[in-house]
Amino acid sequence: MGIDWTPTPLATVSAPHGDAPPCVYRGFCTLGCSTNAKQSVLVSYLPRALKAGAEIRDLAMVGRIETKNGRATGVHYFREGKWRFQRAKNVVVAGYAIETPRLLLNSANQEFPDGLANSSGLVGKNLMVQGNQAVWGVLDEEIRSYKGPPSLAISEHWNYDDKGYGPFAKDFFGGYSYMSQGPLPQLWANTQASAHGLWGEALVSEMQRYNHVAGLKVVSEYMPQERNRVTLADVKDQYGLPVARITYSWCENDKALNRHALKFMREALSAAGGREVWDQGDDTCHLNGTARMGANPRTSVVDADCRSWDIPNLYVCDGSVFPTVGGVNPSLTIQAVALRTADRIFAERR
Ligand SMILES: Cc1cc2nc3c(=O)[nH]c(=O)nc-3n(C[C@H](O)[C@H](O)[C@H](O)COP(=O)(O)OP(=O)(O)OC[C@H]3O[C@@H](n4cnc5c(N)ncnc54)[C@H](O)[C@@H]3O)c2cc1C
Ligand code: SF4
Repeated sequence: MGIDWTPTPLATVSAPHGDAPPCVYRGFCTLGCSTNAKQSVLVSYLPRALKAGAEIRDLAMVGRIETKNGRATGVHYFREGKWRFQRAKNVVVAGYAIETPRLLLNSANQEFPDGLANSSGLVGKNLMVQGNQAVWGVLDEEIRSYKGPPSLAISEHWNYDDKGYGPFAKDFFGGYSYMSQGPLPQLWANTQASAHGLWGEALVSEMQRYNHVAGLKVVSEYMPQERNRVTLADVKDQYGLPVARITYSWCENDKALNRHALKFMREALSAAGGREVWDQGDDTCHLNGTARMGANPRTSVVDADCRSWDIPNLYVCDGSVFPTVGGVNPSLTIQAVALRTADRIFAERR
């Protein structure tokens, strides 16, 4: 089909590295890597931070950020049965695209009645998920999806081709990548039951073909829209804090992208010999937006250093600062932004 592909970049080591043993290719990466071959922050940054003197207070729930005279002074958090207060020179919020705006909104006070960092009115707005639709089929060859990390090959063609061709003319703005998928048996049974409607004997019989199943899954770019948002609900959690209410729907561009991606992946899987190809049409993944980065305080929540425009020692540093989401997985970008923010805060120390 004239489409380039490449091995999926994976943060997992294939040979011993530092304290990490090599990957044993058993495919449990999304559930937690028992060998520590996967280089998540649990084995990369956190041990180094602890060695450098950082203290981790686990099982803690931050309920409110305190401010005085336009600056953040610390956080109120619940831990070991009671509310506590931690003074802070800088406060960095990194709760991800739902909990971050929830905390900023829940921290409203007399100085900032609409919530912290919210003079633009954009905290909570422009929530973006990414498309995660898939096509699945059966191949004559054995695939054995349980072997290896869940995705091993990726194509970014539609992040770079802005025109398309023939039946695949590009009729939407933005892009997507798509990648091979290897679900573990339990996830595959779940997908067959929930997305394919199989149950009972039909499900058991389909599971017997598990070793021949192949799939392609998209990670796609949905548009930022103010109407997609996180607000505070009337319901409260066990800490007495209002929970997040999520409002989200696809725009016409998102729907056109979905159609293109499903059609193209169907064609690609069939070209590779896939039979009985079917669409899993309603899946989404990853959350971003809700505290967007920008160059203008009226149209964004934080500046290029992730510093909030309104409170100079309050930073937001997680997936919520993305102004757009792109057609690839977000975590490496989130980590790169976090490293840069740390450098900027460090450079300002006195
Ligand atoms: C099953 C699964 C598979 C995924 N696979 C991929 C992948 O292959 N590639 C990829 O790029 N991304 C993947 N993602 C997405 C990725 O995990 C997220 O994009 C990323 O973790 C977001 O990073 P973050 O730092 O913004 O937030 P998070 O990693 O969600 O960190 C936020 C932290 O803040 C804590 N928190 C929130 N509110 C409070 C509060 N009030 N008080 C105290 N603590 C609080 C949370 O407990 C959490 O620990 C996957 C996600 C899932 C669930
Ligand atoms: S396949 Fe995934 S879970 Fe298993 S060792 Fe490798 S990185 Fe870890």
